[in-house]
Amino acid sequence: MDNIRAEAVIDLDAVRHNVQVLLAAARRTNPAAALMAVVKADGYGHGAVPVARAAREAGATALGVATPGEAVALIEAGIVSTPEQPIVAWLWVPDEDIRPALTAGVQLAISSRAHLDAVLQAARSQVAVHLKIDTGLGRGGATPADFAELTRLAARAEQDGRVRVVGLMSHLACADEPDDQSVPEQIARFDRAAAEAGAAGLTPAWRHLANTPGTLAWPGATYDLVRCGIGVYGISPFDVPVPGLVPAMTLRARVALTKRVPAGQGVSYGLRYRTTAETTLALVPVGYADGIPRTAAGAQVFLAGSRRPIAGRIAMDQFVVDCGDDQVAPGDEVLIFGTGERGEPTAADWAGADATIGYEIVTRIGPRIPRRYV
Ligand code: PLP
Repeated sequence: MDNIRAEAVIDLDAVRHNVQVLLAAARRTNPAAALMAVVKADGYGHGAVPVARAAREAGATALGVATPGEAVALIEAGIVSTPEQPIVAWLWVPDEDIRPALTAGVQLAISSRAHLDAVLQAARSQVAVHLKIDTGLGRGGATPADFAELTRLAARAEQDGRVRVVGLMSHLACADEPDDQSVPEQIARFDRAAAEAGAAGLTPAWRHLANTPGTLAWPGATYDLVRCGIGVYGISPFDVPVPGLVPAMTLRARVALTKRVPAGQGVSYGLRYRTTAETTLALVPVGYADGIPRTAAGAQVFLAGSRRPIAGRIAMDQFVVDCGDDQVAPGDEVLIFGTGERGEPTAADWAGADATIGYEIVTRIGPRIPRRYV
């Protein structure tokens, strides 16, 4: 890893492989199912542009982001949005400037009458949209009660040639929990919404409900398109690993300093850690400003051939590892997380140590860590 301080190595083969695994899972239920690769939040910290390219190479039909600005940034980087291979953005404020996104061919989700009015006002020609219904998550999308009116208004705008409703979407609340009863309820509400849209004369080609756990665990949620994020990056959305998914990000650093200290040495702010015997401490030059969770109690890293505990508090730019009597020298590689193949922890292990989810571990890795693509 040459002379660098730290880096996130992104394995784009793993991304391509994971897209194919997810697509195969969706196609077990619907052989014609398509996949939207979700690349919001800079591709969950992996880099939206390279991940988007790799996902398309592997067969992703659509790309999904939260904000219109994220979609425009992809397009400015050369990722085109076409009617056949769209970029879809679903989170926006009705009075924000959506003209750059519409002009660039981004397909926006419509959650309310205000969102539809904003699109009708901003559009210079007919635009493709996705109607979003809240089937139970209680977050984005129109409530079933409001959806009837939204459908009627959208159908009228479509008859007038101002919009084309190409998608009907909703999002699952508990797909990561096996046997959760809310999932079939959401599926039933989604079916009712699709029937309602059909009765109003709308024929969206893409009905999409499933995220990664929906795709893997709830065949009834597949419909025409699955929207997968975390699985594309090889991280399980469940408490257990998903066989076949390969983590795409390895976070590595190099030891900046080692020192031999006696028993009783306090380490890092608050001196919450004290050595119990003479030992070697290694300083790792990444910290919470780089996205290493300060609150990850008991997290470990892989250093000098074994997993080692983090000693004391993680600071803004650095943390310390207690290496015992291991031979460690400045410049040695520290694997913070990766695939686990070499004995290193995974992002899921860090999530466990920080009472959070793998999503948060990878999306937090900050801009001070260069991404290297292999
Ligand atoms: N669809 C929507 C609307 C989302 O907000 C997200 C991410 O949170 C996804 C799909 C992808 O979910 P996952 O990363 O669990 O596959």
